[in-house]
Amino acid sequence: MAKVLILGGGFGGVVAAQRLAEQLGDAHQITLVSRSRQFIFYPALVRLAFGACEPADVSFDLRRTLLNRRINFIEAEVARINPPERTVTIAHGEVEGKLPYDYLVFALGRRLATERIVGFYEHAHHLLNVDKAISFRKAINNLHAGRAVFGQCSGARLPVPVYESAFALARRLKEKGDREHVKITVVSPTTLDLELGDATVAAAIKKSLDAHQIEFLPNLRIESLTHDSAIATNGETINFNLLMLVPPFRGSSAASYLGITNEEGYINVDASMRVAGHERIYAVGDCTNFDGPKMGHVAVRQAEVAAANLAAEIDGRTPLSRYQHELRFVIGELGSESLYVHKNSSTDELATVRQGHFWNWAKQVHEKYWEVMHS
Ligand SMILES: Cc1cc2nc3c(=O)[nH]c(=O)nc-3n(C[C@H](O)[C@H](O)[C@H](O)COP(=O)(O)OP(=O)(O)OC[C@H]3O[C@@H](n4cnc5c(N)ncnc54)[C@H](O)[C@@H]3O)c2cc1C
Repeated sequence: MAKVLILGGGFGGVVAAQRLAEQLGDAHQITLVSRSRQFIFYPALVRLAFGACEPADVSFDLRRTLLNRRINFIEAEVARINPPERTVTIAHGEVEGKLPYDYLVFALGRRLATERIVGFYEHAHHLLNVDKAISFRKAINNLHAGRAVFGQCSGARLPVPVYESAFALARRLKEKGDREHVKITVVSPTTLDLELGDATVAAAIKKSLDAHQIEFLPNLRIESLTHDSAIATNGETINFNLLMLVPPFRGSSAASYLGITNEEGYINVDASMRVAGHERIYAVGDCTNFDGPKMGHVAVRQAEVAAANLAAEIDGRTPLSRYQHELRFVIGELGSESLYVHKNSSTDELATVRQGHFWNWAKQVHEKYWEVMHS
């Protein structure tokens, strides 16, 4: 019997656990540890902030879901992993101390390095959890005039909600008759091409920004905030009445100091999703080292690859599944201009970009499909 421990109850951890339960015989034990028993469907948090859905629509109970599939769930905080002794140290929660494993899947996502931006905690809204999305909703409802600023901090790896929020606000203000009283600005630490990873995508977004009179300011690396201004490293100051920023991301601290991460703390993996240089440890999702935005579909695909290889390893077969990086996303909230983007990272070809109402709808249908398949 093998003891498989999965760390993290997000897209990567849940899909890895479910695929393993499907592929491994009943004799093996699968346990998932996460700090909260709620699964959060992050891509819906923009719609939550704009009042299109409620917290119950974007989350489900992990313990019940996993138990139905014979996966144990432990609600607890992971402090660190100890590969030489094959244990995980649990700081607090339903268990404490060390949990042993035979095989490990690390899926703890990214850390929000808010401490890198002075004043972030006090003055910025963000959309990285349900409570923050609800508090952003209240601020949106109170905005009738002034300037709204959206953007990513340097090191953030999540452009989609920045653009979706800017477009959603433009539409909301127009509906309320307040559009001409509010200036909307998107700031980027780089250029649009670099932020979105592709010139075709950047051109399509720029066209929509212009069409909605949304200002775009490139190469602004915000380093500190006051209650009404963002100060960039070049000394430029951007005043705001409402600010939504994606904070810098870093890898999970539970993997640091083990020599398995890059300089930003992301775990180095090979194409089989095995942690480079370590047997019996796989890593998937936002916690791993790859270029470009951190996306849910990447976590899901990596989890499928890791689960297939881990199951083969346990069964004594050769692990043959390989992950090939690609980018797929929908920028919704743009009505008939909503964008679908697909880019294969193994070629130099430009991304495929499609536009239409369908993609916004497809994104919402995908959310429901995910819930039905996994909850
Ligand atoms: C507002 C928003 C919009 C987005 N839109 C899109 C989109 O349109 N399309 C798309 O593909 N992606 C989108 N994403 C990105 C996507 O949500 C992430 O890439 C995805 O969640 C990554 O999955 P993961 O399993 O790697 O990490 P996560 O989903 O972050 O899961 C990590 C899990 O580990 C737990 N955890 C972390 N640390 C510990 C610890 N120390 N101890 C115990 N548990 C811990 C967390 O609680 C969490 O359950 C969006 C994200 C946000 C925030």
